Amino acid sequence: ARPRVVVIGGGTGGATVARYLAKDSEGALDVLLIEPTRRYYTCYFSNLYLGGFWDYDALGHGYANLASDNGVNVVHDWAIGVDRDARTVRLGGGGSVGYDRLVVAPGIDFVEGSVPGWDVSSQHIMPHAYKAGSQTQLLKAQIEAMPEGGTFAMVAPPNPYRCPPGPYERVSMVAHLLKQSNPTAKILILDPKESFSKQALFEEGWQKHYSGMITRIGPDFGGNNVEVRPQTMEIVIDGEAERADVCNVIPAQKAGLIAADAGLTDDTGWAPVTPQDMRSRLDQNVFVLGDSSAQGDMPKSGFSANSQAKVAANVIRADLTGSRAFPARYSNTCWSLIADGDGVKVGASYEPSEDKISSVESFVSKTGEDTDLRRQTYEESIGWYKGITADVFG
Ligand code: FAD
Repeated sequence: ARPRVVVIGGGTGGATVARYLAKDSEGALDVLLIEPTRRYYTCYFSNLYLGGFWDYDALGHGYANLASDNGVNVVHDWAIGVDRDARTVRLGGGGSVGYDRLVVAPGIDFVEGSVPGWDVSSQHIMPHAYKAGSQTQLLKAQIEAMPEGGTFAMVAPPNPYRCPPGPYERVSMVAHLLKQSNPTAKILILDPKESFSKQALFEEGWQKHYSGMITRIGPDFGGNNVEVRPQTMEIVIDGEAERADVCNVIPAQKAGLIAADAGLTDDTGWAPVTPQDMRSRLDQNVFVLGDSSAQGDMPKSGFSANSQAKVAANVIRADLTGSRAFPARYSNTCWSLIADGDGVKVGASYEPSEDKISSVESFVSKTGEDTDLRRQTYEESIGWYKGITADVFG
């Protein structure tokens, strides 16, 4: 029989590794991808949907091409357990599948109790919209239903979390929408962090485009001491209750539950991997990709997950078929849209160092850039979206 690679999670990391393994091994490997949903909605560009720049449908991607054009065996089910001694994965629908190598790429889950008063059962009242799909639609509907002059509040997450600039791009897009439909509305950010990604760029943009609309409360003023009351739509900041019309709670994060369940995480809640190949430090036969992994300097992003997946695919193929393995190189860019045509970016290239993936060269947009350059940066991000979704889903 052909060696089998089982991939848990058909998101950005998992679908990429499955596609590259099947495509590049030309049938030498049996590649089985386990993913419960039939359509994957990208978190990337979901903020642009909130802002009115992107259609909801344009965020969705199916699995048909992975199966038909690339030879991936796609199983729509949950992985509910991993027996690493027997090298099998148990499926929610019953039965189990054996593997020679396992790739675990389940994205994120939330740390229970990290925002007192909130748990996943509150997500229908106070959405996180940090896994895309119906949560993103709910958040948008809530923003559109805000009363005139109402308050949109965001509880921002502590580090490390998925997409470092994501909450602040979201604030920009919500402000863009409200500026047109509800210009006296207010945005309140409650932030446990001293500082955040691309802060100078966002703050400059907020001042320029949305002056007076956005207030950020950092840890010095109680941003790290926040409780929510979903039933009354209240937020308690340092003991003082305030009402909000929309409350977007983005809790602290950890590796997707199945990674912990399989014993692949450490006490940080993330899954440690070796920087040369994304191989689990706890099991030679297992690789962990994307947001779930603890790898070093790379931010948790779709670009990173895709880049890590290609490195892992190359190594797994070499392991199982004797093909040549190339030295690992990784890269990432995170674009953010602040207002119409006002795009900014931050990025870096990375290489494995002794104990982690290390940043070797980085770049970031500058404050005061002219509008042509900002528009060009935005257009670059649209090209990236088209390119990456084709690279991931075929
Ligand atoms: P995911 O893409 O989340 O995939 C995980 C998959 O695993 C899911 O499909 C899930 O259904 C599946 N799964 C989970 N558990 C199981 C199980 N037990 N069995 C089977 N399947 C399972 N990144 C960028 O690069 N650029 C951006 O502009 C950008 N913007 C963002 C904006 C927002 C608002 C957010 C929230 C994120 C953004 N990101 C961006 C980050 C990006 O979406 C994630 O980093 C990326 O999706 C991580 O890929 P992943 O494969 O690790 O996880």
